[in-house]
Amino acid sequence: MTRKNFYATISLDRAANQRADSEWLAIRLGAPNSRVVPVWRGQSLVSTGDAISMVDLDIHHLEALSNRDNQPVLLGRIGETTYFSIDISHLDNPADQIVLGDRDAFADLRQVGQIMAPEEGNLLAYARGINYWHQRHRFCGVCGAPTLSEAAGHQRRCTDKDCNAVHFPRTDSACIVLVYHEDNIILARAGRFPPRMQSVLAGFLEPGESLEDCVAREVFEEVGVNLTEITYQHSQPWPFPSSLMVGFRARALNTDLHPDPTELDSAEWFSRDALKAITPDSDVQLPRADSIARHLIEEWLAEG
Ligand SMILES: [Zn+2]
Repeated sequence: MTRKNFYATISLDRAANQRADSEWLAIRLGAPNSRVVPVWRGQSLVSTGDAISMVDLDIHHLEALSNRDNQPVLLGRIGETTYFSIDISHLDNPADQIVLGDRDAFADLRQVGQIMAPEEGNLLAYARGINYWHQRHRFCGVCGAPTLSEAAGHQRRCTDKDCNAVHFPRTDSACIVLVYHEDNIILARAGRFPPRMQSVLAGFLEPGESLEDCVAREVFEEVGVNLTEITYQHSQPWPFPSSLMVGFRARALNTDLHPDPTELDSAEWFSRDALKAITPDSDVQLPRADSIARHLIEEWLAEG
């Protein structure tokens, strides 16, 4: 396996050891080559010219765009450039505060991520995910008092001195699994999928459950198949809004499928040859190109 999953970090240094270093941060915030990645109402700023590319802002924008509720987040460094992010959802029209190019626009990363350079898609996904968390954790889950951002945007602390609870960015783990038997794999269709799309099975991890337990439970619940040889493959951050997709492969012990009608419209076995023969006109389409589901399927197809 050589290809990385989309939205997985490539060369970003998250500079985690510098998040509490106020002197280091002050220097980067004042450095003319530092850049700002804005997020507006969950959308990312991109240029929509010949190719879709990330648009970042000069660091001097940061002061005017920050307030008590919207503090800069240190994303990290790529080469000599330090990247910060800021949520500007409080602005009704970002163009009032930012000079945008003719082709610049705020766009949903789910729509444009798969056609961007992976490095840029990764940075935008990270910015989107951490700002989503900030927006939804303005108040303490323990006592209800307001919280404030600290550690360069990587935690929030309750402002009630007696409570003083610290809250960390949340990631929801989900298992996704390619289930095979001889030269066939299970693909299923849920009602929420785009037309004709079929995908491998997936589900969220529950408290007190291992990832392997989650794989076995989800597959049995969704299609009634028991598994063996549950093997980790690779993972993908999926900040839409805050998931980590953990990819597995597993061998089926039985092949009769009983799709759970509350979760799935259908589930079927597909042979390698049938999947390799798919064209854009086929009745079955594979998941989107930037998904770990597609990656798991393509890896398996390439083996035979
Ligand atoms: Zn509290």
